[in-house]
Amino acid sequence: MTGTEWFIVFMFSFGVLAYHRASLVVWTLSFFLLTVFLSVFHSVASGWIIATWIVLTPIFAILNFFPLRRTLLTQHILTFYRRVMPTMSRTEKEALAAGTVTWEGDLFCGAPDWQKLLNLPQAKLSIEEQAFLDGPVEKLCSMLDDWDITHTRADLSPAVWQFLKDNGFFSLIIPKEYGGKQFSAYAHSQILTKVYGVSSTAATTIAVPNSLGPAELLLHYGTEEQKNYYLPRLACGEDVPCFALTGPDAGSDAGAMPDTGIVCWGEHEGKKTLGILLNFNKRYITLAPVATVLGLAFKLYDPEHLIGKTENLGITCALIPRNTPNVIIGRRHLPLNIAFQNGPIKGKDVFIPIDWIIGGPKMAGQGWRMLMECLAAGRAISLPASATGGAKMLSYVTGAYARIRRQFNVPIGRFEGIEEPLARIAGGTYVIDAARTFAAAAIDAGAKPSIASAIIKFHTTELARTLGNDVMDIHGGKGICLGPKNYAGRGYQAIPIAITVEGANILTRSMIIFGQGAMRCHPYIFAEFTAANLTDETMRLPAFDKAIIGHLSFTLSNFVRALFLSFTSGRFVIAPKGKTHRYFQHVTRFSAGFALIADVSLLLLGGALKRKESISARLGDILSYLYLISATLKFYHDHDKYAAELPLVRWACENYLYQTQEKFKELLQNYPNRFVGMLLNFVLFPWGKHFEKPSDKLTHKMAQLLLAPTDLRKRLAAGIFVSQVKNNFAVIMDDALDKAIAAEPIEKTVKTALAEKRIFGKTAIEQAQSALNEKIISPEEYNTLILASEARQAVIAVDDFAPEELSREGLKSERPNSQSIPHVEGEKNTRG
Ligand SMILES: Cc1cc2nc3c(=O)[nH]c(=O)nc-3n(C[C@H](O)[C@H](O)[C@H](O)COP(=O)(O)OP(=O)(O)OC[C@H]3O[C@@H](n4cnc5c(N)ncnc54)[C@H](O)[C@@H]3O)c2cc1C
Repeated sequence: MTGTEWFIVFMFSFGVLAYHRASLVVWTLSFFLLTVFLSVFHSVASGWIIATWIVLTPIFAILNFFPLRRTLLTQHILTFYRRVMPTMSRTEKEALAAGTVTWEGDLFCGAPDWQKLLNLPQAKLSIEEQAFLDGPVEKLCSMLDDWDITHTRADLSPAVWQFLKDNGFFSLIIPKEYGGKQFSAYAHSQILTKVYGVSSTAATTIAVPNSLGPAELLLHYGTEEQKNYYLPRLACGEDVPCFALTGPDAGSDAGAMPDTGIVCWGEHEGKKTLGILLNFNKRYITLAPVATVLGLAFKLYDPEHLIGKTENLGITCALIPRNTPNVIIGRRHLPLNIAFQNGPIKGKDVFIPIDWIIGGPKMAGQGWRMLMECLAAGRAISLPASATGGAKMLSYVTGAYARIRRQFNVPIGRFEGIEEPLARIAGGTYVIDAARTFAAAAIDAGAKPSIASAIIKFHTTELARTLGNDVMDIHGGKGICLGPKNYAGRGYQAIPIAITVEGANILTRSMIIFGQGAMRCHPYIFAEFTAANLTDETMRLPAFDKAIIGHLSFTLSNFVRALFLSFTSGRFVIAPKGKTHRYFQHVTRFSAGFALIADVSLLLLGGALKRKESISARLGDILSYLYLISATLKFYHDHDKYAAELPLVRWACENYLYQTQEKFKELLQNYPNRFVGMLLNFVLFPWGKHFEKPSDKLTHKMAQLLLAPTDLRKRLAAGIFVSQVKNNFAVIMDDALDKAIAAEPIEKTVKTALAEKRIFGKTAIEQAQSALNEKIISPEEYNTLILASEARQAVIAVDDFAPEELSREGLKSERPNSQSIPHVEGEKNTRG
């Protein structure tokens, strides 16, 4: 064997070991066996063998002899690491540590196991959950008149409020033993999806008590006494909760809140009581104007050491009855004309007993951790359901509208310019549905997916924003003029709310998805960080050594994998067979590339990456796109690869693979180190760009899916409220669509006759009449044309108002819903 052959064998072995992430023991043994085997059985130029031994023996010796490795190598890395390590506040550390890792962890590691993905449990409803959707949820939807809610009343009607309370809508997450529904995350998501398709106000009113708030916090951290007192009251709606975290000076940086609580003695119900003196100023609090119990986050101090040695205890959560003296509540904000109850809460010298802390005094200072842990699940449900409900309803009606509405004598949906937004609406709806279903199933399987929930929240609401714009463009003035006939305007107005709450989207993209993802999903970063922070010096170096050596071999493996997979375009990746086979392979390729760039970026920038938001955000986008493709593929496979869905799957995969490629390119072009950027660009794209946007042909096919009453259009909108009630736009559109389609061939006949001058008439109706007179069409056909024309006129109609009709009765009162909730300003506490 020549030296060149030896080099090839050596590099091949190196590649195979690195690709398969061999352990150090396997590396060492392989090196030893390979060199011995080749020198004994082959005539390898002995110089090469000697050179290999000289270079590699000391390396393997150091790596395998731990004391030597720590002294010569990892001790120095640890010193450097501790010097450049980012400083982190306690709230940041708690936020980073919260929640669990799901599929995004596999993508982060660069080697997703596709069989594992397909074997993950599917989202399912129980019989009881389905019955609730078919019963109370349908009934609720039939009671909702969104124009009356948002314009006339600026509130839900008293009958709707009562219905919500009586039917347990505020108790979806409360266990049965406390009188709640104890529904799965998927059921919760399905319920909200249906209601969001009808009224954002009603759905948000249901979402808040079931999301991050008193019930969720009590369930996880409440004392038995608190659970027994509050949960049954919350379940039956006797208590309406809100949760107040945000204030004028603490929005995205909620941990910086200036609201304080001082542990002190005071008087409660005539008795000397150990408690907390609170001063706070909160805003934007959903349900606050009508809440009877307030969850409040504040910073707790114990200057007199009445409950322990620590003076600055940190963020703490307490439950405060509305009528506690000095609580000022009841005024409203008006969030973009969506009429759910939302307003400020203030408190000046509010004294509360110490046992009103959620979980009692032992949970003093644990508030941030509690909030972060609970946020993980709720964030994946409420807002993604809002996006799903809106997207499903709007995709259903917009496709029909584009077929019914004509301009230039053609249904507008036939114009290529309109096909493009229609395709985005169809594809976006499918992806939103796939993503929120995937996350809900993970939560039902026991996960608290903090990073996945950030991905889902960000991307479903951003997709809804794009979709909302497309829907408005397709509807023109019909979408703009508000009124009972407008089904698009209020949803369009509501989108920025979803973008802003539960982690504003820019912050989520820039700081959370990759920032927290790197800590939680990377197999070694969190371990390194924890090890480097250990106060026990005897433990610090061994723990750090183990993590850093693992990390180095992981990076080496990612380099080899990324290079190999890019050169071969992922063709040899083992992936599920079928029409989606290549998409799985492409995701594996990009996942390896992502893992490599993530590691190199962490290595190059260290703590500075926290401030380099443009890098962090793009890495977050790449992780998210790979997650969305995975969710889409899983959704399709869970639907038994229903063939009609394939164009949607293709569109989603091709769109996101293209977006991933573009994001990689953008990232590497702007990489802080130009040389490294160019090198990584070569590793990831050795043959140049590979992916294109979905073709015009596919776009055309997607648009057609929405323009006709296809089975797929129905499946895409599965779960929306379709019922023969007043202003159910799904039913109105279905009817008009059927009539429009029935009339199309007759219209063609009339048009031909007109062109041949066999009939006359200025308007369509006159032409139809002339065609009937000339016996070109039958009376039944004439009738079909008239019915289609009437239905079309009803669909394209918009509202107009007398000026006095535009005043809002509901907002004239400062106390909406005042029948049930009195405005309270420091009333006596009657909690009893
Ligand atoms: C309708 C509505 C209902 C709400 N309900 C509640 C509730 O029930 N309880 C509650 O406690 N709060 C509630 N909120 C508050 C909500 O959570 C906050 O609005 C949100 O956290 C953002 O805070 P902010 O509005 O002060 O914006 P800011 O924090 O001022 O942010 C402004 C912009 O800056 C961006 N930004 C901030 N920091 C960074 C960063 N480091 N990097 C990049 N970009 C950044 C944000 O993404 C955003 O785009 C509600 C808000 C609204 C509008």
